Amino acid sequence: MPIYEYEPVDWDCVICKGRFEVLQGVDEDSLTVCPTCGMDCRRVVSQIQVRTRKHHGADHAGHKGFTTYKKSQKGVWEKVGGEGVDAIIGQPEDVAAVEAEKKPKKKIDLDNMS
Ligand SMILES: [Zn+2]
Repeated sequence: MPIYEYEPVDWDCVICKGRFEVLQGVDEDSLTVCPTCGMDCRRVVSQIQVRTRKHHGADHAGHKGFTTYKKSQKGVWEKVGGEGVDAIIGQPEDVAAVEAEKKPKKKIDLDNMS
């Protein structure tokens, strides 16, 4: 379970002395009031979470149950780490659709419309 950091919205909580941390499940709703004193609070992005996320490679994500892929060629994504399948290969029509999106839209010449 991750630890989420909260801070009071309006002023420093006298009881909690500013920011406090709560152990919560990932899919639990974030708190809107301090569980200790009942004042309005909001979740802040923890310094610890930001710092660790930077250094977590695909390997670490794999330990957490995520599978990381990187695009290796047109329509093919190779697995970098994790439990998932070794590669994802896009259907030809999917690749064509992605490629079509990248092409600049046809320009309409307003002065020469028939
Ligand atoms: Zn409080």
